[in-house]
Amino acid sequence: MDIKFTNRLSYKQARLTVLVGFILGTLLSLIQIGIDYASEDASINREVQALLQISHNPASRIAYNIDAELAQELTGGLLQSPAIIRARLIDNNDTVLADVQRPRLEDRYRPLSDFLFGEQRQFQERLYLAHMPREYLGTLYLDVDTYTFGSRFLDRSGVTLLNGFARSLVLTGILLALFYMMLTKPLVTVIAALSNSDPRKPQQTRLDCPHGHELDEIGVLVKVANQQFVSMATEIQQRRAAENRLTQYLNELEDIVSARTDELKASNSRLSQTNQDLEEARRRALEMAQARAAFLANMSHEIRTPLNGMLGMIALTLDSSLAAEQRQQLSIAHDSGKVLVELLNDILDLSKFDAGQLELERIAFDLGAMVEDTANLLSQNAASSVELTCLIAGHFPSTVLGDPTRVRQIVSNLVSNALKFTRFGRVDVRLTPIVGGVRLEVSDTGIGIPEEAQVRIFQPFTQAGAGITRQYGGTGLGLALTRNLCKAMQGHLHIQSEAGFGSRFSAELPLLTHTEAIPPAPLRGRVVALSKAGSGLAELLAVLLPSWGLDYQQLDSPADLQQTPLDLLITDDLEHLLDLRPGLTAPILLVTAYGNFLPGEQATALAPLVQLARPLARNALYQTLRRMLQGGAPDAPLLHEFPRLQQRRARILLVEDNPVNQLVAKGMLGKLGCEVVLATQGAEALEQLEQAAVDLVLMDCNMPVMDGYEASRRIRQSGRWPQLPIVALTANAMPEERERCRAAGMDDYLAKPFRREELLALIEHWVPVND
Ligand code: ADP
Repeated sequence: MDIKFTNRLSYKQARLTVLVGFILGTLLSLIQIGIDYASEDASINREVQALLQISHNPASRIAYNIDAELAQELTGGLLQSPAIIRARLIDNNDTVLADVQRPRLEDRYRPLSDFLFGEQRQFQERLYLAHMPREYLGTLYLDVDTYTFGSRFLDRSGVTLLNGFARSLVLTGILLALFYMMLTKPLVTVIAALSNSDPRKPQQTRLDCPHGHELDEIGVLVKVANQQFVSMATEIQQRRAAENRLTQYLNELEDIVSARTDELKASNSRLSQTNQDLEEARRRALEMAQARAAFLANMSHEIRTPLNGMLGMIALTLDSSLAAEQRQQLSIAHDSGKVLVELLNDILDLSKFDAGQLELERIAFDLGAMVEDTANLLSQNAASSVELTCLIAGHFPSTVLGDPTRVRQIVSNLVSNALKFTRFGRVDVRLTPIVGGVRLEVSDTGIGIPEEAQVRIFQPFTQAGAGITRQYGGTGLGLALTRNLCKAMQGHLHIQSEAGFGSRFSAELPLLTHTEAIPPAPLRGRVVALSKAGSGLAELLAVLLPSWGLDYQQLDSPADLQQTPLDLLITDDLEHLLDLRPGLTAPILLVTAYGNFLPGEQATALAPLVQLARPLARNALYQTLRRMLQGGAPDAPLLHEFPRLQQRRARILLVEDNPVNQLVAKGMLGKLGCEVVLATQGAEALEQLEQAAVDLVLMDCNMPVMDGYEASRRIRQSGRWPQLPIVALTANAMPEERERCRAAGMDDYLAKPFRREELLALIEHWVPVND
């Protein structure tokens, strides 16, 4: 490796040393020259003073004698001195005795010398004799040219400086050579050896130390480099060994990975085989579930049809005149049949949950009215010592969105349980709007449920205690179904109960408001209620009547009534009623338990009197109050419990192949005041339609020759009866069935077995009143 001369260490070191030496040498030379200058400057004055002292006596004598000739000689002699350029002698009368001079020397260094010592210096010596020191005789003047001394000084200074430079130069050369020998050369040797060595070959990597440098820094450098070479070589060797091992591991790993990959492939193919098996099993399970659902549907059809017939026929027979014992026996048979139908419905619903087939509707319906209707229907089952009340919040929406059938099931299950397990006290059904839905609360003062049983009762076929079935009957399906329904609607069902103190079931359901509450037109009058403070009636009236604008007061005892002015008395106090009338002119609204209406004579005795059965529905109460307060008819007709069951004169085409079902439906329709035209299958129905107009078609679905679907399709296709309502009658309760009926052109659906009220509601809906 070639290093530039100026970059070499020896050069740099020599340059630095020489520079320092040169600066120091020059400084010392300058100091020496300065000292020399001071002594030269002093020597000028000394030499001239010495000359003046020597000349003092002869010059004094000459002045004393006023001898111009001798004076000339003396001054001429003084001028011989190289530094004197002018000598003058004057006596005490300032007469010049002698004045000699010569030109001064000119040279090129003169200005420098004049600058250092001055151009010339003048000396004078007052003359007197030694024995007459006070007698002034004259003055000797000498002019000195400093250049004589200056040129000598300049010569010496030049030599001094040159000497210094020459010494520096020589020193530089010597040092350069020395440093090269001592430093650069051995280093260059080491560098060359290092450049040529290959650390991967350990045997080649030993450097030789330059001779004579074994113990100095270069020796140490070589030693350290050799040690580094050794450790590098060792490390390289170790790395090579590690690399070899790594390669070996990699190879082994590759072997393992390929073995594992093979295993994975094998297990993958096993897995996909299992997956296929699972998929196959799932498909089979689904098929089985579908088969089960179809089986259930068929089974329900098969069971419902005869049941329908049986119940219908018993109901019809019950309406005819019978001996008391026969009536009782048939009633029991009818009730048992109804329980069987409910059980069948519950089992079917539960199996729908299992098969994931439950489909929820989302339509607007009046939940308040539905709760009142349901409670009304179920009130038949209430003990007369139980007060069933529907407490619906004043601002409860007119209609909400949801599945009315399923909500009715929830209400019906909870209320029928509450009534079943309560012998005395109250059963309240409360409806309140909550954020994002409604809360339905059914509370009772019945037997309650022990805490440990509260979780259990939601399991299918489970009851709170062992004696329940014996004492109260039931299957243990209702709550399981209710909870499943609440869950399916994204709602919750909570229970709060204490054994012996009653229960409170509250269902929170996300049924959103469809139409807000519409407040009825305000009523005017003063209404007094005679009912116990803790009664459901008092609670209901206290909320409803003020909100309808009525002046309302509640009294506990009939004694308080004497002084109270009133337009109408509402009471549930049968006991004191007969004693009240004589002193009371206002009309009375009597609220009784189901089936406890006062017989005709008693009612007439109490006129004006109107009787309403519990639970009071808001609309029925409002209409009754309006009539009683504003219509004021003293002999207003008695309202009977089902105002809906009024006679309807409608012409109905019943298409049904089963003679039992024909009889049942015909009987029910006849009782409702309808005229029935009969057809046993679809084709016959079409013929009947051709012959005479009807208001409604009740169409069985499964019939020989032409089934109900086909017949409906044809009726619609003909275009002749576009407005004619067709209602399917079917025992198949599955949702697909409904869809199928709609697709065939039918308007509505009635599941068999149906009750008379259901049939009436249907006719009321589809056949407009035309009287
Ligand atoms: P079922 O009423 O047919 O027995 P449910 O599932 O409706 O079946 O009720 C299960 C059990 O929960 C009942 O048997 C009864 O022990 C208890 N239970 C339900 N509701 C009430 C209630 N309101 N008061 C007391 N016990 C009740």
